[in-house]
Amino acid sequence: MTKRGLLERIDAGEAVIHASGYLFEMERRGYLQAGGFVPEVVLEHPEVVEQLTREFARCGADVLLAFTYYGHREKMRLIGKEDLLEPLNREALNIAHKVGKEFPDKLIAGNICNTNIYHPDDKDSQKQIHQIFEEQIGWIAEAGVDLVVGETFDSISEVEIAVKIAKEAGVPLVIGTVLHRTAKHFRDSENYFVDDLKRVKDLGADIVGLNCHFGPQTMLPLLKEVTTHITDGRVAGFPVAYRTTPTQPSFGNMRDRELCCPERLPVEGISFPVALDPFTVTRYEMAEFAEEAVKAGALYIGTCCGGAPHHVRAMAESLGRTTEASKYSPDMSKHAFYGDDESLKDYNKNFAENF
Ligand SMILES: [Zn+2]
Repeated sequence: MTKRGLLERIDAGEAVIHASGYLFEMERRGYLQAGGFVPEVVLEHPEVVEQLTREFARCGADVLLAFTYYGHREKMRLIGKEDLLEPLNREALNIAHKVGKEFPDKLIAGNICNTNIYHPDDKDSQKQIHQIFEEQIGWIAEAGVDLVVGETFDSISEVEIAVKIAKEAGVPLVIGTVLHRTAKHFRDSENYFVDDLKRVKDLGADIVGLNCHFGPQTMLPLLKEVTTHITDGRVAGFPVAYRTTPTQPSFGNMRDRELCCPERLPVEGISFPVALDPFTVTRYEMAEFAEEAVKAGALYIGTCCGGAPHHVRAMAESLGRTTEASKYSPDMSKHAFYGDDESLKDYNKNFAENF
């Protein structure tokens, strides 16, 4: 049986679950350095990337993303390892394909992202951006994928370059963009962000939306604005798994007022990126987001930074799905204090309030 494609699924009204969060997860596990955030782990410990991809798949991700986020030429230059650029990109795509063999109905995605060198007045940087996307899309097209995901763009002009080049891969294109905390327009634009997203769609992106920076709580209202104007379901939302709020809407600037020792943080007082742990959302907040986003008409949903397999599983289950890992989803009926299994001791059950 042939695999059903991304747009076939979305256009049939089916949600597609995207799982990412590789950078932060690899950093936590000790395989990647915060700051530069370059995924050298792809070459150094491919088995770790492979296993995380497998965990996401078991937990209900429909999309297996090649971990090339921040694996582009500019980032490799920054750490003095441009020679590893091509091997890293090719290996990341191999890993996604390898796991894909175990899960034949999953979609394999190539990945491109913000370059951090875009400047509206700098023609030279725009030329470099062209080159960055061209070479990455070339490797993606050679490996063969079911879709390309472009992520975390804050400048609409950079998105335009990405769309033009990524379309050449000849597969559906998903574009995730980020807003900064104070504005409803992209960094290089004064338009209402949804108008710009509509234009990106007209340029050839199949699915457009928001990813990263905002957690489920602050992304959802923005996503609903998008789905008010783009009503064909082809809208993406994959938030960070952190509890952003109206007063702290974006994870890049969060402050932890309970923290013992703000002077210990790498950027004093700022929890981003390595002290966000107390803000991590529960799986239930991601489940709530998934249900609400899909109801609103955003059918490409998932996780970004901070997201982990348990979040993905709860999102899938909130949409009525049973994942391979659902056999281990919580069942408190056999818990010593909160359970109701007949064989459990009343001595403990009656003590539950004091537990
Ligand atoms: Zn992110």
